[in-house]
Amino acid sequence: MSTHKCPECGAVHERNTMSTANPRIIPRSRWTRTKSNAPAARSGSLVGVALHYPGSRGTIGTESEAQTAARLEGYRRQHVNGNGWKDIAYNVAVDQRGNVWTLRGVSKQSGANGTTSANRSRGAILLLIGNSESPSRAMIDGVLYAARLWDVRYPGIRYMNPHGKFVSTACPGSKVRALLNDGSTFYMATARKRWPNVK
Ligand SMILES: [Zn+2]
Repeated sequence: MSTHKCPECGAVHERNTMSTANPRIIPRSRWTRTKSNAPAARSGSLVGVALHYPGSRGTIGTESEAQTAARLEGYRRQHVNGNGWKDIAYNVAVDQRGNVWTLRGVSKQSGANGTTSANRSRGAILLLIGNSESPSRAMIDGVLYAARLWDVRYPGIRYMNPHGKFVSTACPGSKVRALLNDGSTFYMATARKRWPNVK
């Protein structure tokens, strides 16, 4: 990583390597041929997003895009055919490359947060990491961008929370929980600063 001497404070900093390009939004048609039967989001009820992980062993962040697409279709089948739910439970997923996958989408009510009130009040973002992985910089940026998709559509969005805030679960894992608690990483204020111009 290159450095430069800051003209203002005189200190030597690492150059800012954060990408200025928006994350790639991958459409639902990339991973399933089905349509979502999930109910519409309730604008007046939404106050934030909840973060999730799959709870999978090892590493999944090195999968190809095709493998990720197959994984998501597997989750959908499990949720619909196995659990009898209306669609894949999450609204969006973010992979380690920073891609934002449209699952049931931000216009739908979440089905992943564990209670009806939590599903009405928070969208659900799935971080595609295995239990031994930490989110990459690109994933962190993608999650912040995804949170902004709600923030620019619904009034009163304030919170980024762990799934475990609403029900007893380890989800989204210790590494993501730490980033929800460090005062800077997974916060709506950070998302607004990082991605001011989301549509
Ligand atoms: Zn979860």
